[in-house]
Amino acid sequence: MGGFEGMVDVAVVGGGHAGCEAAAAAARMGARTGLFTLDLQLIAHMSCNPAVGGIAKGHLVREIDALGGVMGKIADRTGIQFRLLNSSRGPAVQAPRCQSDKAKYRNEMRQYLEALPGLELIEDEVAGLVVSGGAVRGLATVSGRRYKAGSVVITTGTFLNGLIHVGFDSHPAGRLGERPSVHLAKYLWEAGFPVGRLKTGTPPRLDAATIDFSRFEEQAGDAEPTFFSYSTSGVWQPQVCCHLGYTNEEVHALLRGNLDRSPLYGGVITGIGPRYCPSIEDKVVKFPERTRHQVFLEPEGLDSEEIYVNGLSTSMPAEIQREMLRRVPGLEQARILRPGYAIEYDFVQPTALSWALESKQVSGLFHAGQINGTTGYEEAAAQGLVAGINAALRTGGGEPAEFPRHESYIGILVDDLVTRGVDEPYRMFTSRAEYRLLLRIDNADQRLSPKGRRLGLVSDGEYDRCVRKYEESARIRDFLRAHRLVSEDLDLVELDRGLSGDSLKGAALEQLLKRPGIRLQNFEQLLRGRGLWLSPEARRSAEIEVKYEGYIGQQKRDVERLKEGVSRRIPADLDYGRIEGLSREIREKLARVRPKDLAMAGRIPGVTPAAVSILNIHLEILRLRGQEDSKARED
Ligand code: FAD
Repeated sequence: MGGFEGMVDVAVVGGGHAGCEAAAAAARMGARTGLFTLDLQLIAHMSCNPAVGGIAKGHLVREIDALGGVMGKIADRTGIQFRLLNSSRGPAVQAPRCQSDKAKYRNEMRQYLEALPGLELIEDEVAGLVVSGGAVRGLATVSGRRYKAGSVVITTGTFLNGLIHVGFDSHPAGRLGERPSVHLAKYLWEAGFPVGRLKTGTPPRLDAATIDFSRFEEQAGDAEPTFFSYSTSGVWQPQVCCHLGYTNEEVHALLRGNLDRSPLYGGVITGIGPRYCPSIEDKVVKFPERTRHQVFLEPEGLDSEEIYVNGLSTSMPAEIQREMLRRVPGLEQARILRPGYAIEYDFVQPTALSWALESKQVSGLFHAGQINGTTGYEEAAAQGLVAGINAALRTGGGEPAEFPRHESYIGILVDDLVTRGVDEPYRMFTSRAEYRLLLRIDNADQRLSPKGRRLGLVSDGEYDRCVRKYEESARIRDFLRAHRLVSEDLDLVELDRGLSGDSLKGAALEQLLKRPGIRLQNFEQLLRGRGLWLSPEARRSAEIEVKYEGYIGQQKRDVERLKEGVSRRIPADLDYGRIEGLSREIREKLARVRPKDLAMAGRIPGVTPAAVSILNIHLEILRLRGQEDSKARED
């Protein structure tokens, strides 16, 4: 097996959001890493909306940051508007989102990657893998080069056999203006990977100079921005506004009257699209009672005239797109810089992967991002981080890193993908989390930075800051628990809503803080007097932990119960065919997914509680037999 022109420990295929995160993690963990991509200028390009985060997606970015990943830091440096979504709701569902300057995001990411020791960026198209004895040995590029690699991470996004549709005009492309990846798609198909087809779409981009913004409602960012990275302390870019408007019945009538010209409704598109991010023609058909839909105008960057029209994703012919815009107040004269379009692409069913995102068919091969059937930059980056970490661990001979679902949204994402597979583009929601009060944006560092530290991804400075934050939070909580209100305190405590100070005398501050309407800031003077008005992050953590103590405690107890199932590990080579009492269908399902523990087995669709209990008994018998065997050997 000679003939290699280069050699790396980890080869990452694709320079999108998954690929950047995978390459950065592998290189930072000490693996010699090569990042292969079609166009170096378009590293970390945002194919669709100029934004990072949002509900549940913002959670993912915080977790990526807490583990030592890149996305949060670059998003903060290039953010041109920050908003905390769901700010009036409970802490479990609050999430940061920012508008991003797309060009700056790409540049910052490329500069970051170029500066990483041990990482080489290579502009070449990967055509296939070099595999022998069931393990990956390297890859081959279209230009005829072969590289030796200990592990390979494929992160090709929407490029595998990508086919773009604007009306009935269809042409092969990975994104608008970029060639698709057909050689690698053919390789994966011929090698027998379970390949399927999905689709997604994007709205038209408009020339800002031709929009009448006065017909839209201005939307500013938050006065006090919430950042993604725990290490960011202020904004880097000038901040801008977005604008909100609406479609109307004229727009809807136009779309309804031209559905036969839509590739989606005309039967040209066969791939399944994202249910939660439908095109405007889809919305008009599925919600006929709605007289208007929101349209957000989002700038693509500070130095760009391009406006992204969030809400008007479409694959209608260009002339219908023009007619549609003409009917939206404020967009009558708008000039289309790029039309909206739909794209169909190949994905590989993620049940073909282990919980480390490693292929069950070819060891050392990892898949991350849209190739696994997900949609979204954040979902891609989260998987890229997991795959990059595990690819580096594999070449270094280490055990794979595990991300349990009760510890992070990253864990939920990976577990859902490899346990259930996808039948439509998968995106993250807070409702996917069983214990969402434990998976908040404020405590992602507590949950994940120790692991990031062990992996070598969280720096000393970052880790010290995390430790300090929770020490400070514990000091505040200790005081709140121990201190009972006395007469001298009453002048120092701000109590509104008719609460009389006298009636509260003797109550512990912790009990008072649990009451609705009372916030930690009501005790500011008292805490300041004790030198305990500490960092805002520590105060926030202490306040949430006290206010929601009952619910948090309940969820922690539920997790402890769940861990009993998790601790029942299942050998990777278990022969399910020999377990009596399981139906053939359930045996096949278990053999396909190969769950790592009993809890994961129970989450496979179609695996019944009765089957889990039979499996549990079988594992117990195996355990007892193992004990007897080792005792016999000792005797
Ligand atoms: P990508 O960001 O697509 O990156 C893929 C990378 O692989 C590129 O760098 C490419 O050059 C490289 N590559 C491909 N093939 C090869 C090869 N053979 N050799 C070397 N390099 C290769 N997400 C949403 O959340 N909401 C949306 O509404 C939405 N709409 C979208 C609409 C469109 C038209 C498109 C194209 C994407 C949309 N997305 C949307 C998806 C979002 O862009 C992706 O989920 C995200 O970018 C996926 O990240 P990734 O890293 O998996 O792949």
